[in-house]
Amino acid sequence: MRKILFVIIFLHIVLFINAQNRVRNYEEQISFIFNLSNKFTVYEMGTIYYSEHSYKMYKITYNQSNANNKKFLIVSGIHGNEEAPVYALRDVILTLDSQENALKNITVDFIYILNPYGFEHDSRYNGNGLNLSLDFIRVESNEIQMLLNSIKDTQYTGVYDFHEHGNSKSFFLYYYTRKNKQLAIEITEMIKENNFTLENEFVDVILKARDGLIYIPLYAKWYYEYILRAATTGIYFEKRNVKEVFVFEIPKLEDFLNRKTMAKILANYLLQEDRETIVEKNRVHINIIYIGIIIISIICIGIIIKRKIGKRTNGA
Ligand SMILES: [Zn+2]
Repeated sequence: MRKILFVIIFLHIVLFINAQNRVRNYEEQISFIFNLSNKFTVYEMGTIYYSEHSYKMYKITYNQSNANNKKFLIVSGIHGNEEAPVYALRDVILTLDSQENALKNITVDFIYILNPYGFEHDSRYNGNGLNLSLDFIRVESNEIQMLLNSIKDTQYTGVYDFHEHGNSKSFFLYYYTRKNKQLAIEITEMIKENNFTLENEFVDVILKARDGLIYIPLYAKWYYEYILRAATTGIYFEKRNVKEVFVFEIPKLEDFLNRKTMAKILANYLLQEDRETIVEKNRVHINIIYIGIIIISIICIGIIIKRKIGKRTNGA
């Protein structure tokens, strides 16, 4: 009996140690950022301390120098077990670094691995068991605190958060305002053109994916913000007036190389020099309205002047 008990306890210890095992090496994975050219600036955001290990956190900025550039934020690795986008974005960063005529008119902040503990332990959660993706209102984790601190003075044109979805065979994205719909459709069409399928089955509580799109209506935002107090990146940045906000869900049931390809083509699509952003589309829209008002005003003034002159000549 004692022997059996001993074996059971021993097995539990082994399982526990395995669960805590580091399956990936964060430092090794981020080592390339220190060899990037001067197109990139590497900021140390701070250090995350856990009992067994500490992690230095970095923001990597592409094209830091031009203050007038449109600014984008790309986040990956919030959930440590969603690794394909992390590897994909490493390639995207290295390509930007090596290209001769790379993008000059945009500035991009990469938060490459937001959850180093999760990345090393293949865990959805950070070292304190927190889901960082839902920590944008309470800000209980040091990881999210550091992220928000390091970007507090930046007004982004677009924020794109890369995730992977465990139960999906197909791609989908979350979008947060109606204004994003057209671009969201363009993105999913681009995914389809690359021979990947779009999710039509997945239901998030009551919001169903259709042709790879899930729209977050106002009531869902309020529910997350005021009742659950657990806003995602999407809800948080949309409130911060970022015009293009997307959370991408790459299907984890696809093989690794396909998932990596999907993340890469998404990043490359969004980071194009000449891509018309939603901000510019709105500006064009407002300009048309202004021009319309000016033309109508001129016509009205013309009619009034004409009538007054008419009255005077009649009076004479
Ligand atoms: Zn995720």
